[in-house]
Amino acid sequence: MLKFTDRGIYCPQADLYIDPWLPVDRAVVTHGHSDHARWGMGRYLCHTHTAPILRLRLGEDITVQAVSYDEPVTENGVRISLHPAGHIIGSAQVRLEYRGEVWVVSGDYKLLPDGVSTPFVPVRCHHFVTESTFGLPVYRFQEPEAVIRDISGWALQNAGEGLNTVLLAYALGKSQILLHYLRTEGQPLLLHGAVANVNAALETAGFRFPGSRAATGAGSSPVEGAVIVAPPSALGSPWLRRFSPYRIAMCSGWMQLRGARRRRGVDRGFVLSDHGDWEQLNEAVDATGAEHVYVTHGYEAPFAQWLRERKGCRAYEVHLQGDETEEGDL
Ligand SMILES: [Zn+2]
Ligand SMILES: [Zn+2]
Repeated sequence: MLKFTDRGIYCPQADLYIDPWLPVDRAVVTHGHSDHARWGMGRYLCHTHTAPILRLRLGEDITVQAVSYDEPVTENGVRISLHPAGHIIGSAQVRLEYRGEVWVVSGDYKLLPDGVSTPFVPVRCHHFVTESTFGLPVYRFQEPEAVIRDISGWALQNAGEGLNTVLLAYALGKSQILLHYLRTEGQPLLLHGAVANVNAALETAGFRFPGSRAATGAGSSPVEGAVIVAPPSALGSPWLRRFSPYRIAMCSGWMQLRGARRRRGVDRGFVLSDHGDWEQLNEAVDATGAEHVYVTHGYEAPFAQWLRERKGCRAYEVHLQGDETEEGDL
């Protein structure tokens, strides 16, 4: 029912693409990260919580059909529905059913609860298209709540030494998880504009996050003992300098790799991911009961080989063109 094409994952019967990277008429978008939600589609179908993110990032004039989880849409006999992926707010797995055959495209997902996105729900299917960003056994992630408890403790210690704490986390996804669980003990909580903009868009969907947009410009007064949440792109920028002296940490799944912190030039690395680790990926694949598994978006070859040899599934590597330009997921 689905084909892997040079524009994206295509369903000929319904004439629509899932997360296409080149302009097409009809796109189903799994979530708002920039490697999945791209500009130039005639019509977008997404979850209601993703719609304000698409409008923020792609423009108010796009045509969006927003649906709830498990609310089916039918296109030329194909029943299409979205199901929670637990990756970021509004993230969805796409289920397509036609004449008794069921495919599920996972998009990005994780199984650990993060306090803000609707928890992952396994969906039974015959064909499962899975991501594999952290598809190696070396990756084992703790629950975000426990990681952020450590972050809060570190920030408090920094404040005790008269230092600010800068936390680098992607504006859409990890920033909201951080803000949800952070305990700032009376310290000022300041947000980079990119984070504040995403929060403002999510507020229109009923979400509320603490923190205020950091004032910029010559007249703004210095802060002490504050916690500042900013995207990784702020590293080394003039914007950051005004928070000096500070300690700075990167919050990312990649921080599990030895040397990643040093390479990034930060003081601390916290392993915080919005993707599943090795165990979660395996659990998710098992829960689908799929006979055919298509592995994309990460460690395609080793994970597909593992599934073939250890689980006896028919697993295939699929190299999607959009994979190279990650923004939200690092
Ligand atoms: Zn993503
Ligand atoms: Zn992604």
